[in-house]
Amino acid sequence: MNYDKEFIWGICRILQKGKDNSIPLSLSGRWNAMAAQPHPEKEAIITVEDLEYAYGDFKAVDGISFTVNKGEVFSFLGPNGAGKSTAINVLITLLSLQKGRASVAGYDVTRDPQKVRESIGIVFQEITLDRDMTVWEILEFHGKLYSMPREERHKRIEELLMLVQLENKRDIRTKNLSGGMKRRLEIARGLMTRPKVLFLDEPTIGLDPQTRMRMWDYIRKVNREGTTIFLTTHYMDEADQLSDKISIIDNGRIIISGPNWQLKNTLGQDIIYLETSDNEAATQLLNTLPSVRHITRKLRGFLVSVHKDGTKALPNIIERLRENRIRINTINLKKPSMDDVFVHYTGKEIRDDHMGRNGTVTLRPGGH
Ligand code: ADP
Ligand code: MG
Repeated sequence: MNYDKEFIWGICRILQKGKDNSIPLSLSGRWNAMAAQPHPEKEAIITVEDLEYAYGDFKAVDGISFTVNKGEVFSFLGPNGAGKSTAINVLITLLSLQKGRASVAGYDVTRDPQKVRESIGIVFQEITLDRDMTVWEILEFHGKLYSMPREERHKRIEELLMLVQLENKRDIRTKNLSGGMKRRLEIARGLMTRPKVLFLDEPTIGLDPQTRMRMWDYIRKVNREGTTIFLTTHYMDEADQLSDKISIIDNGRIIISGPNWQLKNTLGQDIIYLETSDNEAATQLLNTLPSVRHITRKLRGFLVSVHKDGTKALPNIIERLRENRIRINTINLKKPSMDDVFVHYTGKEIRDDHMGRNGTVTLRPGGH
């Protein structure tokens, strides 16, 4: 019997969907047909324990442990040289694990590197597209490399071209695409094999602010379709906007991990900036309020971090100053940003020319 592959594929989908709404079948070769789940449970998909990696004597990754759950967007946030790419390269089995343990999609990176590779998609920090191939050829070649059946391959290419909005660019050679389009094409290529985890190493590096934001939309879209995303970035706003969970990494170590709101809450909920007619008296006075957590003097005023919601603490603060005839010249309320979190925990700021760092508040530089 010689059934049409697409027909068999369709039947498999129906049978499998009836069971558990997934498509855990591999029709041929190395193509991993495990579709990601649209509504993932809290289940670990990446587990890393005490991972170390050294180049000669230099430990680039120095004993990191973390877990990424299925369906999450997880970010490594850290400056250049923090060890982000090295860690990713161990997870994608490009570098061999030296010490510790790591598993991706249920497979140990040392024991089952092939299985790991079949379960993931990768977008490297550097653009890795053949300049003379067209958009369509890039995807077609990748699908062939993974032995995807022809019909499914072509169907997938059309889906992905739509997803990253490159339908009209299918016959353009990659050398003639803009930076943002190249990145989108790389993301599409990373998704060809329906990976369970997509690794994105600095996906928006070097892109202009508008293109970066559009790229975030694509990444969110991919995630909504069920793919777990592991990304590295040195952009605070990127980690903040995109991630369910962030690990701040510096000098090969994870300094703190958690959802963005949790990291920000560790600094106190809100920050109030004040300039008054008598800053010395004002800080002494406010220090006695139970809602005030910490006061940092600045050049012309001072920063008050509060325990509770700043909008609730504010009337109290204003009243107290008025009672004591201290005039308020400037007042400003803000939530702690990822910049504040980063500075607080690493004692450093990451300067970047793409970001336009206005209004950054430096909290207790030098760590916690
Ligand atoms: P990140 O991706 O966070 O910028 P990397 O993982 O690329 O950091 O690098 C971490 C550290 O390891 C850096 O100090 C870098 O110079 C060093 N490093 C990276 N690759 C190599 C290599 N092939 N040989 C020696 N040192 C390296
Ligand atoms: Mg890197």
